[in-house]
Amino acid sequence: MKAKALKDLSRCAVHTITTKPWPIETAIERYVEAGFGGITVWRDTLKNRDIAKVGKHITDSGMKTAALVRSGFFAYETPDERAKAFADNRLAIKEADMLGAPMVVLVCGAKPGQSLETSRDQIKEGIEAILPHAEAHNVKLAIEPLHPMYADDRSAINTLESANEMAEHFDSEYVGVAVDVYHLWWDPNLKREILRCGKNGNLLAFHVCDWKTPTEDLLLDRGLMGEGCIRIREIRSWVEQAGFKGFNEVEIFSSKYWNQNQDDWLQQIKEAYLKHV
Ligand code: ZN
Repeated sequence: MKAKALKDLSRCAVHTITTKPWPIETAIERYVEAGFGGITVWRDTLKNRDIAKVGKHITDSGMKTAALVRSGFFAYETPDERAKAFADNRLAIKEADMLGAPMVVLVCGAKPGQSLETSRDQIKEGIEAILPHAEAHNVKLAIEPLHPMYADDRSAINTLESANEMAEHFDSEYVGVAVDVYHLWWDPNLKREILRCGKNGNLLAFHVCDWKTPTEDLLLDRGLMGEGCIRIREIRSWVEQAGFKGFNEVEIFSSKYWNQNQDDWLQQIKEAYLKHV
């Protein structure tokens, strides 16, 4: 069963990192003008801002906040790093609450030279430590598995199966998973794991972009939907089959696109979303 093309942008949220040169106020205004239904706010855009006021700006404009990105980074080598990670995650949860974001996306963390098993134990410990805080603020935690190319220093959770196991361990409505096509498209078990994620009530978010060949930079050369090899619409059909009804979030880190005129870039995103997502 293939999903049908989407007719409008009401279920589309743009990550502010996608239009990195714009301050948050400009991003809100331009996304609304373009017709997007949602925005996913990156924490760097909230620096020196009254966060509740930004949240009100979004609500007054008629958009919804899909999520606050990002916290996590639970892997540590020293007690000091551990304490800092916990404190920063508690702060992110508080910021999400002030902003009116229903969830925080967790990039779970890894440390070069430290075994992935050790990092995974630390991730489990970290989520356990901040979970009461998330419940108190009514903010969910979305574990985002990252592509294995980031297993050395960004994330010890690299498959949807691994993220599902972590979420199922907690068995809490406040812990779930963010599915990003960029990180997971290659996985032969992707459909099975997406259905499992939905069945267990853990499918919290869906992120889209594309994988370019060749990818010139492992972090900052993501493609626009339709530009690469990811079968985005097919994956969306699995996500919807799994019961997901949230936003399709466009998240593209690209130095190439950040150097372009951002109004033209947003127009390209709009067209690519309707054509390829
Ligand atoms: Zn993502």
